[in-house]
Amino acid sequence: MDLNTVFSDYWELLNLCEDYLKGGYRTDHQPTPAFHFDVKSAVQESPSDAFGQDHAPAEENTASASPSSATIPVQSGSLDERILGCRRCDLHLARKQPIPGRGATQPKLVVVLPPPGYDEDDQNLPLTGEAEDFLNKWLGAVGVTPEEVYLTNAVKCRTPGTRPPFPVELEACSAFLTEQIEALKPQAVLLLGEGALHSVERSGVLSQKRGQPFFINSRFYLATYDPAQVLVKADLKRPAWEDLKVLRDFLNHG
Ligand code: SF4
Repeated sequence: MDLNTVFSDYWELLNLCEDYLKGGYRTDHQPTPAFHFDVKSAVQESPSDAFGQDHAPAEENTASASPSSATIPVQSGSLDERILGCRRCDLHLARKQPIPGRGATQPKLVVVLPPPGYDEDDQNLPLTGEAEDFLNKWLGAVGVTPEEVYLTNAVKCRTPGTRPPFPVELEACSAFLTEQIEALKPQAVLLLGEGALHSVERSGVLSQKRGQPFFINSRFYLATYDPAQVLVKADLKRPAWEDLKVLRDFLNHG
């Protein structure tokens, strides 16, 4: 993790502390500055010189906020290109890159995952590691092959410290998800974890909604636990499997 990411995460952490101290969920904060700490130049200049011009609001820093985004078209071209150039919310400041998604172009199933974490951001993948292996087992158990699936995240940029996305971030990013689902036309959408549920139903409570199919634009949606959560809480395995059986029955019998 580079120093600029550490500073951005630290800033977000201070914002969270402020929320907790004020007893609110999301108070008004200064936008996270775009840190550009250069270790080499820091040897020659004081720390205040290095940060001096980076405390302007995010909107004023967009030209230099993301090194990769400078060469990527914004608000033009394909949906993926628009996601890659997106700076609609503060999450663009800490990411290495946005991750539009990966998988089949005509999928049977779209899986909406929690926000990318550090490893996903680093490897430019919607899901990595043990949780990915676990999800593949789930998909096999409901009779879906990897070639029939498209994976994407509730928000396309990693959240600092893998915290849940804030409502304002879900609000900013959910239009991309809607557009993806409309373009991919899957038979069903599987929402994994609270963040994924909130990307389509802001006030949904996972413990109440999980395992109960609902329809948006005549398309089948089902929510269940995040595989990473189930990996560390063995007592969630059984209810997650009960939920997945509902998806399996829908895919098998419509
Ligand atoms: S999380 Fe979504 S809305 Fe926010 S910057 Fe990334 S792509 Fe844009």
